[in-house]
Formats: sequence, structure tokens, C-alpha cells
Amino acid sequence: MANREQYEYKIILLGEAGVGKTSLFNRIKTGRFHDGQSTQGADRHTYTTTIGDDQVNVSLWDTGGGERFRTLTNNFYRNADGAFLVYCLEDNYTFENLQEWIDDASQHVNMDSFKWALIGNKCDLPNEVEKSRVEARCEQLQTKLFYSVSAKTGHNVMKSFNDLISAIHKKQHTRQQPHTQAHRSDKVQVDSVGSSTGKKPSKGGCC
Ligand code: GDP
Ligand code: MG
Repeated sequence: MANREQYEYKIILLGEAGVGKTSLFNRIKTGRFHDGQSTQGADRHTYTTTIGDDQVNVSLWDTGGGERFRTLTNNFYRNADGAFLVYCLEDNYTFENLQEWIDDASQHVNMDSFKWALIGNKCDLPNEVEKSRVEARCEQLQTKLFYSVSAKTGHNVMKSFNDLISAIHKKQHTRQQPHTQAHRSDKVQVDSVGSSTGKKPSKGGCC
């Protein structure tokens, strides 16, 4: 059987403290909601999926709580291909304050190839954010990826995550040289915890 072509992407979670980033991270990593669990230390999860004939390995990075002190590191942003930009649906402040995280990311990542997914979390609670504000934000971010999700119930979480991966792949796969398994000595484990040890394939073109 022919080897699958492999691609690697990095997705970061961004947004105010308390909006549910770690809960979304845990939902994707374990399929469960860990109520009341506070953020501790940086965390990464490697997720593997297939798109058509391609194998896609995604490294998902949680902030580790650095957003509380506005101390997200260069390492957190380095080589990120996309972000879950998260706000809390019942807290308008967390929506308006997204600009701070957009500005911060803009200083660290290549916006030409970056993909945003706007994520309104806690859709099990009342929605306080006006639809027109959400539409304007999507236009600003040049993305059609907006989802109301709930880390608590799981609603829309995996759909939004997989749609972001597909959008990144669509935007980038012509820019990356795929790695076949025959060329990889460091195969990424499905659903393993911790950073991928795989090398990211070099991206063709400069921008
Ligand atoms: P972070 O600071 O952005 O990482 O947010 P956390 O994941 O630590 O969540 C902050 C609080 O929101 C915790 O008390 C969570 O239990 C709660 N929370 C997270 N997601 C949801 C959700 O979808 N619905 C509800 N009702 N609460 C949530
Ligand atoms: Mg957290």
C-alpha cells in the first residue's frame, strides 16, 4: 500500500483567562469536561487525522496560564499555523478584548498563511454578544470559521477543530513538501500527550 503523505501543523489557543481554553483543550484531548480544573503549566497535545489521502499531525498548544500575566512566549507562537480564538459567549468583555490577542499574535506569526477560528465557548449559557459584532470580527480576521461551542457539553468542539485543521491544510498543503513515512524516523503517535518530536516539513515559498 502506498505511503500516506504527512503534514504537520501547529494550532494555538488564544483568549482571555476564564473563557474555557483549557476546558476545550481537555475536551479535544480526552473527550471529557474536567469541571473546575485550573490551568497549570504549558500543555500540548498531538492529534492525528486524515484528510483525503493525507495524514495530518496537529500539535495543539494551550497557554499554560501565561495569558493571565500577558506573558505568552515566542516559543508558544513559533511556527503556529492557526488559532482557536476563544471568547466566552456570556461575557461581552472577553469578546471585545480579543483584539489584544490578535495584536499579540500578529507580532509573532506570519499572518499571510495564518488561519483563525473564532470560537464562542459556553453556548450552554446565555449569549451576550451581538451577531453583527461577530460578523465584523470574522471579516476582520478574513475567516468564515465561527462556532458557538461548549467544552462542557462537547457541542461543536470537534467539528470546529477539524474544520480549522482542514482550512489550514487547504491553505497550506500546496506550500509544504509532504513527508512520506519512509522518510520519517520520528513518527508522531496518535493521541499522545506532549509535543510532537516530528520535524515540521519546510514550507515552500516565502509568504
Ligand atoms: P481558561 O482560563 O481559558 O483556560 O479557562 P478554563 O478552561 O480554566 O475554564 C474557566 C471556567 O469556565 C472553569 O470554571 C470551567 O469549568 C468553565 N467552563 C469552561 N468551559 C465551559 C463551558 O463550555 N460551559 C460552562 N458552563 N462552563 C465552562
Ligand atoms: Mg487555561
